Order: sequence, then C-alpha cells, then structure tokens
Amino acid sequence: MLGQMMKVPLTIPSLLEFAARYHGDCEIVSKTVEGPIHRYDYAGLARRTKQLANALCGLGLGDGDIVGTLAWNGYRHLELYYGVSGIGAVCHTVNPRLFVEQIAYIINHAEDRYVFTDLSFVGLLEGLADKLKKVQGFVVMTDRAHMPSTTLRNALCYEELLAGQPETFDWSIVDENAAAALCYTSGTTGNPRGVLYSHRSTVLHSMAVNFADSLALSARDAMLPVVPMFHVNAWGIPYAAPVAGCKLVMPGPNLDGASLTHLMESEAVTISAGVPTVWLNLLAHIKETGKCPSRLNRVVIGGSACPPAMMEAFEKLGVRAVHAWGMTEMSPLGVINQPTRRTEALAADQRRELALKQGRPLYGVEIKIVDGAGVELPFDGTSFGSLKVHGYWICDSYFRQEPVAAHDEPGWFDTGDVATIDADGFVKIVDRTKDVIKSGGEWISSIDLENVAIAHPAVREAAAIGRTDEKWGERPVIVAVLKPGATATAEEIRAFYRGKVGKWCEPDAVLIVESLPHTATGKLLKTELRRLYGQAR
Ligand code: AMP
Repeated sequence: MLGQMMKVPLTIPSLLEFAARYHGDCEIVSKTVEGPIHRYDYAGLARRTKQLANALCGLGLGDGDIVGTLAWNGYRHLELYYGVSGIGAVCHTVNPRLFVEQIAYIINHAEDRYVFTDLSFVGLLEGLADKLKKVQGFVVMTDRAHMPSTTLRNALCYEELLAGQPETFDWSIVDENAAAALCYTSGTTGNPRGVLYSHRSTVLHSMAVNFADSLALSARDAMLPVVPMFHVNAWGIPYAAPVAGCKLVMPGPNLDGASLTHLMESEAVTISAGVPTVWLNLLAHIKETGKCPSRLNRVVIGGSACPPAMMEAFEKLGVRAVHAWGMTEMSPLGVINQPTRRTEALAADQRRELALKQGRPLYGVEIKIVDGAGVELPFDGTSFGSLKVHGYWICDSYFRQEPVAAHDEPGWFDTGDVATIDADGFVKIVDRTKDVIKSGGEWISSIDLENVAIAHPAVREAAAIGRTDEKWGERPVIVAVLKPGATATAEEIRAFYRGKVGKWCEPDAVLIVESLPHTATGKLLKTELRRLYGQAR
C-alpha cells in the first residue's frame, strides 16, 4: 500500500523560494573583487537569480548543460549556484588554485559550454582559452564600468547579461534526481575526478547542515564561509544558510587574517567555517592585535585535522571550535563533533580530548571501518581500519569515469581515510591511507605527530611524513615552519616528543624550513613533501 502524501520533488530552487518568502529581508553581504561591499537580501537574490535564469536560457543553455565558474565567495557566484541548477543545467565550480593544466583538463572533461569568471581569473583563462575548444563563451562577473578589454572569445559582461531580463522564472525542474552541481576532487595523484551532485542530495544535505547538532545555522546567525564556493560548494553553506534565514557574509578574494577579522566585526558574524590553515592566519592576526571579532561564537574546522593547540586558542577567545570531517564525494559533511548529554558531563580534560575527534555521523550518513580483508571492525575507539560510508549525499560513481576501487563494495564508498570509531560513534581520523607512516609492523598517525609539533610554542605549522628506512620501511620525519621571530632548534623540537608519543613514534629527524607546500584546497601537499624529504639519507 502506498502512502498518500504529496510527492514534492526536493529541488534547489525550493530553497531559494523559501528564503525569499520567509527570510526575504535577511542580508547577503559581499566583499567584491572590484573593491566595495555589496549588500542585498534573499528577496533580491531571488529576483536577480530569475533574471540570470532567463539570460542563461537566452544563451541557449538548458537541461544537462554544464556551466563553469571560476569565482570567489560572492553574491554573483551565489546567483549562479541557483540560476544554473534552476534551469536544469549543472553548476560546475572550478578551483582556480589548481595548476593550469588541471583547470584545462577539468573544463574540457566536463565539456563546460560557458564559463563565468570573476575579474581575478580573466588573465588565467585568456592563457588557457585556446585549449578550451568546447567553451562557447565567457562571462565576466562584473559591470560595464569594470569590464576589462579581453581576448576571451564571445566575452560577455554579467551585469549586461542580466539587465532588462524579467524578474520572474518558472523553475523547470521536475526530477529531483537531476544533476545540479559538479565539483572535481583535487586528488594529489592522477587526474581530478568529478562528483556530480543531484538536486535531491543537495537539499537533503542542506537540511543536515542545519540540524541542531550540526552547523545549526539559524535566523539569528551571521555566517561567513571562508571555505570557498569552488571547494565542495563551500561545504553546502550557500544552500543551507538561505533556508535557515541566516545572514551570509561573503569575503570575496580577501582571506587574510586582517580582512577576515575586520569583516567579521563589521558584519557581526557569529559563525564561520574553514580549513586549519585559514585559522592559523586568523589566530596569528588576533594575537598580534589583541582583537577577536566580538560576536563570533563558533567556528567549524574541517578539511584537515584541527590541532589541539588551535582548539585551545579558540577556547581562550571564547569561541567554540567545532571539528567536522567530510569530503568532496560526501557533499561534504559526514561527521561533526557536538557533545551529547553524556559527554557534556565529562571532566574538562576528557571533553577537550573528545572534541579533537572529528565527530559523530549525521542522520543520512552510515559509517563503518573494515580491516584489510574487508571484515567490519568494532566501534571500540581503538580498532582502526578503512573508513567506508553510505548515504543520501554520497557519490555513487564518478562523472564520466570507469568504476574505481573505492566503489568496489556495492552500496559503500571507501573514503581512503583510516579511522577509529568509539562506542558513542565518535570518529577519529587516524590518517589518510596514503599518509600513514608504516614503521616496522606499526602504523604511526601523521596527524598525531603533527599535533605534537604544533603544540610547541615556536612552531607555526608542521608536516609529518614517512622517510624510507632500510630497517623499518619508513620512519617519521617532521618538517616544520617556525613562527615569525621564534627560535627553536631541530633537536629541541625532537625532544618535545618525549613522553607525548610512544617511543617508536618519536620522529627520527626534524627539518626546519621556510614554508610548506599546500594543495589547492589548503591541505599539506604530502606527495611533494615526500619527494623533497622522504628519501633515506
Ligand atoms: P576534500 O575532498 O578535498 O574535501 O578532502 C577530503 C579529505 O580531507 C578527507 O578524506 C580527509 O582525508 C581530509 N579531511 C577532511 N576533514 C578532515 C578532518 N577534520 N580531519 C582530518 N582529515 C580531514
């Protein structure tokens, strides 16, 4: 017997329509590439998105067409998120920090028909345009006054494209399973892989972002996503904030500590989200100036493990650091660390230790850990194995690609992470499978070693890698960058490990360097570090 309830498709335009109607005057504030601050609200977003939708149809775009974007977090990018998927096309956010060859590969692989670009990336695209044969035209996301003279073919000006278009549009989506957005993983080896989100997966993920024990965005919050809209849809925040009626503060290209703290203060930001490298800069700036944004009460930290020193620094500022874990293939939210009634009653040091784990699954995500033979391991907080996931917003196969080993077990996706899960369901990411240091029969977590180094008062950032070793296979080596003006010798940092980790985990060497290489999404580039420092000496 079938239920007798309405079958209303879960579609992205419904998020926007709800926000426009019930949170119409809630502000969206953007620091623009052109310089000034731009302000409007969800009602304004809806009006302009409909103009954009009409303009996109006018360009001949529609069902299943792919539209690329190279843009910072800002209101025009937000309009593309909704306008492109609203006409049945796919919004393909391209990470401009990737190597140019990868950008060309991604745009060609996706067969983007149009590419929308912020002023910042016009030069980059001009250098590539010859390789992007299938792109019919480029739209520069600016007004006539700032429109550059460009060699890009069929270059259009965004504001001119919208001007005069009707502010009404009949959202055409009927199938909630239609593709809506596309992101490529920045993979450190091989070509990037496309993850194709559907309307349904995006809407369900947005709801989960807003759960009380998730990011808990509300109509009293002002959210500044530092995480870029070109990296896993800024963790789904551009879709989740509107339905919560949460003010959105978009930082544009200015992601340094000074710009972020200034914008957070002036816009009364209560919550922000980003990767640890961003917070390193922000915390350094706050320390220097002694000024923490006065309304900020929580920051979401993910993308890489949050070091204990970072969590403590936020705690001292009265800001709760919420640890979360996910990946491009998971839209991205998988687990998030919020206390339960039981864990809240624990002693302060136990609570602190627990807060460093990545957290518990959200409803909608199933998790398990398995050993090398695929046998499921217990949730005991000590057994560790490959972390596999299953759920409403998890990638079933990669876009235009043959099946890969990660999808070998039907219904499960192998995340490539190694983790423990405790009896309460708290996940601790031990490492990426590829980054774990295999010394003799033991596995050493590079994350644990990095956390110790960062707790040293002179260390700003550190990477732990396995250096090939004749006797042990691999031995841990720390590559560290010191804080400006700080002094510490390699030997002092090495000595700092004593008593903090098992004897066999103590690094064989500490190398002090000027800077560490990062990926396009702000993670430590371990492949390059291993190339530079990973060979036996
Ligand atoms: P991406 O698809 O670029 O978002 O990268 C996903 C990967 O980042 C995950 O598979 C993890 O290896 C890593 N990651 C994300 N969040 C965390 C976290 N909180 N702690 C440790 N690693 C993380």
